[in-house]
Amino acid sequence: MSELLKNILYRAGAEETIDFTSDASNFTGNCDAVYFPRNQDEVTAIVKYANSRKIPVTVSAARTSLTGSSVPEGGIVLNTARLNKLISFDQEARQVTLEPGYYLKDLKEFLYGKGLLYPPDPTEELSTIGGNIATNASGAKTFKYGPTRNFVEELEIILPDGEFIKLKRGANFALGNKLTLTSETGNTYNIDLGELNMPEVKNAAGYFIKWKMDAIDLFIGSEGTLGIITAARLKLVNAPEELLSCLTYFENEDDALSFISEAKNIAYKNRNPIPGGLPDPRALEFFDRYSLALLNEEYKHIPVRGAAVWFEQEYNSTNAECLHTAWNELMEKHHASPDSWLALNRQEQEEIGKFRHAVSYIVNEYIKRRGLRKVGTDVAVPDSEFVSFYKKITGMARDSGLKFVTYGHFGNSHIHLNMLPAGNKEYELAKKIYYKICGEAVQLKGTVSAEHGIGKLKKEYLRLMYSQEEIEVMKRIKCTLDPNNILSPGNIF
Ligand SMILES: Cc1cc2nc3c(=O)[nH]c(=O)nc-3n(C[C@H](O)[C@H](O)[C@H](O)COP(=O)(O)OP(=O)(O)OC[C@H]3O[C@@H](n4cnc5c(N)ncnc54)[C@H](O)[C@@H]3O)c2cc1C
Repeated sequence: MSELLKNILYRAGAEETIDFTSDASNFTGNCDAVYFPRNQDEVTAIVKYANSRKIPVTVSAARTSLTGSSVPEGGIVLNTARLNKLISFDQEARQVTLEPGYYLKDLKEFLYGKGLLYPPDPTEELSTIGGNIATNASGAKTFKYGPTRNFVEELEIILPDGEFIKLKRGANFALGNKLTLTSETGNTYNIDLGELNMPEVKNAAGYFIKWKMDAIDLFIGSEGTLGIITAARLKLVNAPEELLSCLTYFENEDDALSFISEAKNIAYKNRNPIPGGLPDPRALEFFDRYSLALLNEEYKHIPVRGAAVWFEQEYNSTNAECLHTAWNELMEKHHASPDSWLALNRQEQEEIGKFRHAVSYIVNEYIKRRGLRKVGTDVAVPDSEFVSFYKKITGMARDSGLKFVTYGHFGNSHIHLNMLPAGNKEYELAKKIYYKICGEAVQLKGTVSAEHGIGKLKKEYLRLMYSQEEIEVMKRIKCTLDPNNILSPGNIF
């Protein structure tokens, strides 16, 4: 064992490591030790040691994964908690470079008041930048800005054999479906990208594989299986001058759905860097009646109506009036209740954000208390199919007699339908319905996971989406970079 390795902080033994053997999905595993490297050299030492002995290394960060992706099944855990520094910030270039264990929440705080914004905003702000990149996380603002992938400019990565590689966006493209990577010491990796048909909807299921793709995109969303991200340079955008955040209620669910459809269509036509006088929401989120009822237990001032929609609109002094008028007209047209929750200052806007977070959190706690695992969909379908798909799957859940709540990023046609089984029997039924819902989404050219990824718990659904041949393509890529299958084994396939 190298001197360097001996000096890395680690924990061993069942009691000492227990916190690192589960994640927010409630899936549990086991490991022999957890290492907390402080820098790239320490990461390299751990990986080289493990690779030479074929010891599995599961990469873990804040462990907010909902798919078991940061849960070890033996071997060691490499946790990024101490790789948490801000490396550099360039206001002019609108870029920030971070170590992977830096919290999303801290980035938001750091940027506050600097006139810049990092748009990817998964609801769980106590997740890390490394975890977000490894899952291609997205959130409410993804409707306007796209997922994490769109903001990753450069990655520093330790490959499973301990080699170091730096990938800059725009610097290395595949020739057709052949991608070559070269490490700092000159090792080359020839990757056959094969043929794979990714859905055109928002997607986080399996590797990102495309003809002539940028090499950096292969690692984004690869769930810790292809390399360990040790630094990331991220793109920022100008923060809006002002923000209108509004939770608006509807007596009738159909009105909420038609409000979203129309807002979406207007946004697609109107989308440009500076919004004009027409709605161009950055977020369009939905809550059904049951979600509101669940939330009402904690948020007494929130009325339980047929449905609610949370939208956010960026604006400035020149278009404030027309935008407010346009939104009011749209709400009136779709029969929104007059008593919306309108947030114009930062504190209130954060309150609405917390309210949105609360629904996921309450659902997770409900499941945890019963010792079950979450049965919440992460499916997305093409916009044209969305409303009929929504009706079909909520109909399936209703017919089953199970308790359920539906909310999600409806701007992206992305639905979290969470079944709330009371015990094991209902849990088994919920899983069957979940499987059917994934099948329906795939039939419509959608995805089984738009943001949480596959991890260890959703592999059977990935098989609904991709043929065996396509899954073999992903496995071959993994094998080229990680022939000993040491890095986060058990994730994705
Ligand atoms: C209440 C709640 C709400 C959520 N809402 C959202 C949401 O709106 N959108 C969304 O996308 N997700 C959401 N999630 C899921 C989760 O927060 C995201 O998947 C997040 O990106 C995970 O980050 P993490 O730091 O917790 O990573 P972990 O859970 O520790 O790890 C996740 C994956 O990333 C890999 N990984 C972590 N760090 C690295 C690294 N440095 N290099 C390589 N691989 C690495 C791990 O191996 C694992 O595969 C939610 C979770 C909860 C509990």
